[in-house]
Amino acid sequence: MKILVCISNVPDTTSKITFTNNNASFNENGIQFIINPYDEIALAKAIGLAANGNGKVTVLNVGEVSTEPTIRKALACGADEAVRIDAAPRDAWFVANQIADYVRTNPYDLILTGRESIDYNGAQVQSYVAELLSLPSVAIAKKLDITDNEATIEREIEGGKEVLTVNLPVVVGTAEGVAEPKIPNVRGIMDARKKPLNVIPPIEVTQLSKITSFESPVPRGTVNLIDKEQVNQLVELLHSEAKVI
Ligand SMILES: Cc1cc2nc3c(=O)[nH]c(=O)nc-3n(C[C@H](O)[C@H](O)[C@H](O)COP(=O)(O)OP(=O)(O)OC[C@H]3O[C@@H](n4cnc5c(N)ncnc54)[C@H](O)[C@@H]3O)c2cc1C
Repeated sequence: MKILVCISNVPDTTSKITFTNNNASFNENGIQFIINPYDEIALAKAIGLAANGNGKVTVLNVGEVSTEPTIRKALACGADEAVRIDAAPRDAWFVANQIADYVRTNPYDLILTGRESIDYNGAQVQSYVAELLSLPSVAIAKKLDITDNEATIEREIEGGKEVLTVNLPVVVGTAEGVAEPKIPNVRGIMDARKKPLNVIPPIEVTQLSKITSFESPVPRGTVNLIDKEQVNQLVELLHSEAKVI
């Protein structure tokens, strides 16, 4: 089975996010980048499915050369090979078209993405890729099993669970529960240096949307500790300051 895992290069979850260019661009200065956590889940699942000679795992990133440490980490976790489409990911439509174009000439049985990226949180790339390739698409998968040519997928829905089957090839967006993310060991890190990382040029795609500005959330206020004996003071503050009663 040939499995493609699309990985996004995102800021470490502990990063302090700031903006430049009159709040129109994310400031990458001093930021540590990681594999998008939902993509780590997809990667771990793919590696498990391909274990014992059952398949081959390719990781793909649409990004500039600066994303290569993240790609190498995916190889260190156990992916067999990597592809980097050499372009800044300008918007979800642009990214999805790059992925779809690659898959048209390099078909896969299973295409995994994360449920969303934790930076721009669009949750769009997976369904665009499926649509562009005329493939079935299942979002927010919580469990994924493959038997022969069929995937059985569990999804969490309001108040319950949905179980569905779909024939391969399929594009699946993975969420928590599908697999435990892998931590690369020293051997994996050494091996990753020798694994193929093919850099291919992007295709021409029109950028459909343009970010004009970002706004940071209002900083949280300081915590006001009230003595447990001062119930009246607490009630007064909830009324006059917090305005919740
Ligand atoms: C310099 C810069 C400028 C940008 N300007 C804009 C802009 O003007 N307008 C705009 O809409 N967006 C802009 N973006 C955001 C960027 O285009 C998003 O990363 C892209 O739109 C993907 O959407 P998402 O992050 O919401 O992905 P989602 O749809 O939330 O991602 C779902 C899944 O798709 C896969 N995926 C996502 N991105 C990639 C990738 N790059 N390579 C491989 N797989 C991927 C992953 O598996 C991920 O889990 C900019 C990004 C950069 C770095």
